[in-house]
Amino acid sequence: MSKERLHELRTLLKQYAYEYYTLDRPSVPDSEYDRLFRELEELEKEYPEEFDPDSPTNRVGYEVLSEFKKVTHSRPMMSLGDIFSFEELKDWIAKIEAVYGKIDYCVEYKIDGLAMNLIYDDGHLTQAVTRGNGLEGEDVTSNIRTIRSIPKMIPYLDHFEIRGEIYMPKAAFKRCNEERLKNGEEPFANPRNAAAGSMRQLDANITAKRGLDGFWYHIPGDTNADTHHGSLEFAKKLGFKVNDTYKILHSADEIYDHILKTIAIRDDLPYEIDGMVIKVDNYDIQERLGYTSRVPKWAIAYKFPPEEVMTKIEDIFVTVGRTGRLTPNAKLDSVKIQGSTVSYATLHNEDYIKEKDIRIFDTVVVRKAGDIIPEVVRVVKEKRTGAQVPYTFPDTCPICHSKVYRFADEADHYCINSDCPAKVVEGIVHFAAREAMDIEGLGEKRVEQFYNADILKTFEDIYRLKDKKEEILALDKFGIKSYENLITAIEDSKNRDLYSLITALGIRQVGTKAAKVLADHFKDLDHLMDASKEELEAIKDIGSITALGIYDFFRDEHNIKMIESFKEAGLNMRKLKEDTAISSVFSGKTCVLTGTLLNYTRNEATAILESLGAIVTGSVSKKTDFVIYGEAAGSKLTKANALGVKTISEEEFMEMIKDGSK
Ligand code: NAD
Repeated sequence: MSKERLHELRTLLKQYAYEYYTLDRPSVPDSEYDRLFRELEELEKEYPEEFDPDSPTNRVGYEVLSEFKKVTHSRPMMSLGDIFSFEELKDWIAKIEAVYGKIDYCVEYKIDGLAMNLIYDDGHLTQAVTRGNGLEGEDVTSNIRTIRSIPKMIPYLDHFEIRGEIYMPKAAFKRCNEERLKNGEEPFANPRNAAAGSMRQLDANITAKRGLDGFWYHIPGDTNADTHHGSLEFAKKLGFKVNDTYKILHSADEIYDHILKTIAIRDDLPYEIDGMVIKVDNYDIQERLGYTSRVPKWAIAYKFPPEEVMTKIEDIFVTVGRTGRLTPNAKLDSVKIQGSTVSYATLHNEDYIKEKDIRIFDTVVVRKAGDIIPEVVRVVKEKRTGAQVPYTFPDTCPICHSKVYRFADEADHYCINSDCPAKVVEGIVHFAAREAMDIEGLGEKRVEQFYNADILKTFEDIYRLKDKKEEILALDKFGIKSYENLITAIEDSKNRDLYSLITALGIRQVGTKAAKVLADHFKDLDHLMDASKEELEAIKDIGSITALGIYDFFRDEHNIKMIESFKEAGLNMRKLKEDTAISSVFSGKTCVLTGTLLNYTRNEATAILESLGAIVTGSVSKKTDFVIYGEAAGSKLTKANALGVKTISEEEFMEMIKDGSK
């Protein structure tokens, strides 16, 4: 059975390698290939008698395409062994240290592109050859000549070869795929395939338009240096683009720390990296460590956790949001992506499902990058068995069963029944959310429970809950303490600032940012309600569609009555805090809060910062000025450190706000 599996895996991996290397059109994500590759490695260890030099585990790349002239490499172009965890990294270092003691490692970004060998004679670029099957590659010289950053002449008059990676920057990839979609062509699966596909063009004019670039990291011959990093510096002097992020490190701990920091800033890089390459820096030791048939033993690739994995759709269902928008979702056979278990993924809308021909029981590639909601990116059509069921988008709301509408020029369907329970419940949840009226204890489950018990059907009902003590206490799992806490939270919410109330109303396209602009401008809800369309349109940062939405919202009888009822209940209708930003250390600064603060809730800390003129955002980037961190701060703090953003502990923060005008 296992031997059968071994042969099955060899056939499958060869098929995948052909699709990936020769056609530049992989059918499965890299994570799936890597998983099967590892399984094959294990089986080959178990059955050494099944050794085959032609096994994917002994080969580099795949066969060379015939249209290009074939060129034999002066020295084989190898692949890299790969590891996926700190444990494996420690083992790899320990084996080297056992023989050579503490040594230097040069740690570089693993650029996700395709390997290339450049050949110079008498200072002139004479040939550029792809890696191909490692022994023989394709002559793509005329295509390489279109890449501006590659020197066509170098100040070195001997025969000279240099190897590196041709890649497509993220921006060029986006452009390239947009163009392909416009021309009715299939978009490239990722920048690596896009780079490889562009390099394989028989017409160099097409390559020239694709915005390719290259980083150079290996001189196979005389390097004028006795260390790897020395050779990188030499390459730089000759005019080659070397990735300057390389670091000389000395232990598994140091390397791992650097890897984690790099993962945190990976999304901010203008090009894709899929891991880090750790290389023994000293050439003598490299020489002594040598090579296998496929990889050098003096280097290893630490592969990042995959952002794309393969799984199966078990079902497709639609949810309804507070605006009535219907979102189709896939229920997945649960998979781990970047450490978290993913069981659902968005399918966006009907067109998305149709364009990608996504069916129930399909095998699909799911992507989750950073904090983004997981999405189904494509179907692995090769895995279709005939049992897949096409999905028909519903023409009625799955919750209230009224007809759904798709407006001209919109991709989404809407349930327009204003009494639709899903819309009402989601609307109330939004009203009570942290960024709106911040009523703790009124989350989705609770709102649904109250809604079903007929206690909470409108926003106004929230402020009537204090009169529903008996009904609430009669509900399942509802104790007096929870009731009291909830009522206190509701009473507190009456004192929220004007922008919180505007956000809570859920006017189309008016989120916290627009709500703040409106509160700053009108200072009072009555003034906002009275504003004309022209007045609203004239406000900077408020677009004409948003302005119209606001205007219409406050002309609706039902909404006017609701505001009246809020006034009677005693909700604050005014802007409370005036700008004190003028001379604060936080004025105009972009701040991010992370971890658990001991002395403030997130909202309190945000409110303090905003009152001091700061802009508080959710994610760390190069544009962030300060990251204020509490206990158990995680990736945001790591990222801030990696980017050199100033970090402030809670204690320091308290000191700083004591005298905000410092
Ligand atoms: P690799 O991409 O895992 O690593 C080796 C390559 O890394 C080198 O050849 C070089 O081109 C590149 N590299 C980038 N930066 C480098 C640096 N700083 N120093 C040295 N090298 C650097 O190996 P591979 O053999 O090119 O490809 C194998 C991988 O390709 C698999 O692990 C898999 O992820 C993917 N693959 C996917 C499929 C699929 O069907 N999805 C099929 C085949 C291969």
